[in-house]
Amino acid sequence: MTARMYYDDDVEKSALEGQTVAVIGYGSQGHAHAQNLRDSGIDVVVGLAEGSKSRKLAEEAGFRVATVADATRQADVVMVLVPDTAQKAVYDAEIEPNLKPGALLMFAHGFNIRFDRIKPDAGVDVGMVAPKGPGHLLRSVYVAGGGVPALFAVEQDPSGTARARTLAYARAIGATRAGVLETTFKEETETDLFGEQALLCGGVSALIKAAFETLVEAGYQPELAYFETMHELKLIVDLMYRGGLNFMRFSVSDTAEYGDYVSGPRVAEGVKATMKDVLSDIQSGAFANRWIAVQEAGGGEFQELRKRDREHQIEQVGAELRAQMQFLDPVVVYAGEAQAAATSGGSSAGPEPASKVAG
Ligand code: NAD
Ligand code: MG
Repeated sequence: MTARMYYDDDVEKSALEGQTVAVIGYGSQGHAHAQNLRDSGIDVVVGLAEGSKSRKLAEEAGFRVATVADATRQADVVMVLVPDTAQKAVYDAEIEPNLKPGALLMFAHGFNIRFDRIKPDAGVDVGMVAPKGPGHLLRSVYVAGGGVPALFAVEQDPSGTARARTLAYARAIGATRAGVLETTFKEETETDLFGEQALLCGGVSALIKAAFETLVEAGYQPELAYFETMHELKLIVDLMYRGGLNFMRFSVSDTAEYGDYVSGPRVAEGVKATMKDVLSDIQSGAFANRWIAVQEAGGGEFQELRKRDREHQIEQVGAELRAQMQFLDPVVVYAGEAQAAATSGGSSAGPEPASKVAG
């Protein structure tokens, strides 16, 4: 089976002609959607809370900024780009009561629809465009004439225009320059959670820590262990990114390649069974319920887990070594805030917090 890809020429721009899009939130995704839409000729209003720190940024960028309720009242399309954990409260209080008849409600990730946190009326169009990249790239790649690929889905189409408008939105943010693929809210949410838990964020960090601890507990130098288990990983992943596992194996030594075949499966023994359990917890809603319960209890467990991993030895050793490698543009993370490690210089755009990349 080959998935159908949608490119610029497959999409009718006219589906959004004369319509106003309310972009709710002006963070990682919000600023990029708002700016790309405007550059594509679409009328944009940014919806933010009265006291939001993002207001100044959106106003300086020349946008009309309104409360979420007012922006929703003005809009034919409402794109919800506040954090997933805040969406239900914002939707219930400010979006739902103010949606225009025929409005298209949009998301960039399916969590709140898939797990029934947000339950739009049957008369509301519901669509999704989920860019497969962080917001700052969505913007910079668009400005350079390219696009970030995206998934799109239509959950409800009572007006009969939701699908065409969702695709036109994907085109307006530049995604159809790279290619857009159809999915469902269910598939996008479950695969996204699985990827970040089993591999991209959870699986990889657990493997890195296990390898680092194995070497340090065996008496090897922690600095050496850092280079071996974290620093070099990027170099290996870059090879995979360009040419798959085959190119990585082409580039490493025969000894490394042989060791990959005989020892990799030993390390990964039982991993697939565990991954299936992780996937089951996602599909059953057990993970979502746990995460929602943690937030409703004030987030204590989340903060404890965060603190524990932040103090891991590999983070202490790594920060010192990276500070000596300014060419890496190193970033130091304090209490959830990311800052350039250098006191002067560094990238002018500022670092993108790692937590904003997946999800
Ligand atoms: P973010 O944390 O970067 O931005 C949040 C924005 O919402 C900020 O402007 C903040 O001021 C505003 N906000 C926060 N609470 C609010 C409230 N109660 N009322 C009004 N505004 C509020 O969020 P993000 O990472 O851009 O995520 C937005 C959506 O995009 C999520 O659904 C996420 O899953 C999805 N997404 C993110 C990425 C990514 O790379 N960051 C990629 C794909 C999809
Ligand atoms: Mg993701």
